[in-house]
Amino acid sequence: MEASLPPDFDSLRPPCARLTTAHEAWRERVRAFVDRHIAPHLDDWNRAGTFPDALYGETARAGLLGLGFAEDVGGSGPGGGLYDRITMAEEMHRLGSGVVYADLATHWIALPPVVRAGSERLQREVVRPVLAGEHRVAFAVTEPEGGSDLSRLRTVASREGEGWRLNGAKTLISGVMRADSILVAARTDTAERGVSLFLVDAHGPGVSREPVEGLAWYNASIGTVRFEDAVLPADALIGDEGGGFRALAEQFNIERLSGVGAALGLARSAVAQALAFTRERETFGQRLVDHQVVRHRLVELAGRIRSAYSYLDACVEWLEAGDTAVADLALLKIEASAVLEHCAREALHLLGGSAYQGAPRLERIFRESRIFALGGGTPEVLRDLVARQWKF
Ligand SMILES: Cc1cc2nc3c(=O)[nH]c(=O)nc-3n(C[C@H](O)[C@H](O)[C@H](O)COP(=O)(O)OP(=O)(O)OC[C@H]3O[C@@H](n4cnc5c(N)ncnc54)[C@H](O)[C@@H]3O)c2cc1C
Repeated sequence: MEASLPPDFDSLRPPCARLTTAHEAWRERVRAFVDRHIAPHLDDWNRAGTFPDALYGETARAGLLGLGFAEDVGGSGPGGGLYDRITMAEEMHRLGSGVVYADLATHWIALPPVVRAGSERLQREVVRPVLAGEHRVAFAVTEPEGGSDLSRLRTVASREGEGWRLNGAKTLISGVMRADSILVAARTDTAERGVSLFLVDAHGPGVSREPVEGLAWYNASIGTVRFEDAVLPADALIGDEGGGFRALAEQFNIERLSGVGAALGLARSAVAQALAFTRERETFGQRLVDHQVVRHRLVELAGRIRSAYSYLDACVEWLEAGDTAVADLALLKIEASAVLEHCAREALHLLGGSAYQGAPRLERIFRESRIFALGGGTPEVLRDLVARQWKF
């Protein structure tokens, strides 16, 4: 079972007896797609801060967009287990194209509640077109007044005849600038007053959007969306009134697992690049990797990645056995994002000034590494979740 040495992107992931040839075939399929449809354009897209909408259709036609969704709603059908999701995230991040994935993958968070509880009309007009790559959906929880503290959620849906009237604002929403529909968490002003989910037409009256200026590569499609007396039909309410937190909690667990795959994929990519560089570059009469401090640093990074994977494999085993392992998933997510930040920083350091001269993949990984500590819950919020789960 020992992986081939020296560690490259593939062998930085420790062997796992539960990964089958079917998983391997899926990995090859995703990798071939990334190499063909993303790799040749990545530097241009990075400079432009965006990618063409046509990529959604290409991803759907390659059978990747429908992963985890049933065939009768336009998905890929059987398969789509946890390792397939993780593999998809790893491979989509192998080249440091995290933002492409962030936009392409928002439907894995936004769509399941609509598939489960949306009306016939929404299955036809939203779910199927999204899985065909012809319609885009974003997921909006965070508000300008605060993201972590969901009890302060201020976006309000009021009853309006048979339907609803929505007021409020959401910010830092991935892919919202190109979205056709937005799944919005809002408080209802009925006796229930709980948080509910609403599917909102992004082009409808009362809905306006503006991009969020921020960390360079994130500019293009991340944005703020405002609802000013946006009138929604009755079937915009997804699931039970007041049932939004429950639906969100389920989605966040899945988001954490994909996020872990993404973070560890980026970490492997960074360390593999640093190792390749230090085997070539010479200083003080020997290769960089022949300096003990350098090789110790690389071994330390590889060891952190392999430890995180052991924890990931344990979590997958528990989940597949029916235990949601909420606390462990939260701890794993904290660890994977810390491993990524450590690897990205150290890899950049090992490249020295070269990291600033034509090492765009590593530069992107370093830039994107921070978001993994925020998205899906910050470490502070997740540690509180763990303490609650363990009834401290
Ligand atoms: C690139 C990017 C993409 C995103 N995409 C989406 C998206 O698609 N949809 C969406 O809904 N949101 C999205 N977000 C928002 C993200 O989920 C939030 O940034 C995150 O939840 C944190 O919320 P906040 O930014 O309001 O920080 P705050 O809640 O204001 O927290 C600020 C800091 O204080 C800390 N903190 C908060 N409370 C406590 C406490 N009780 N004790 C100790 N420390 C605390 C936090 O950990 C954090 O470090 C995105 C963010 C980014 C940067």
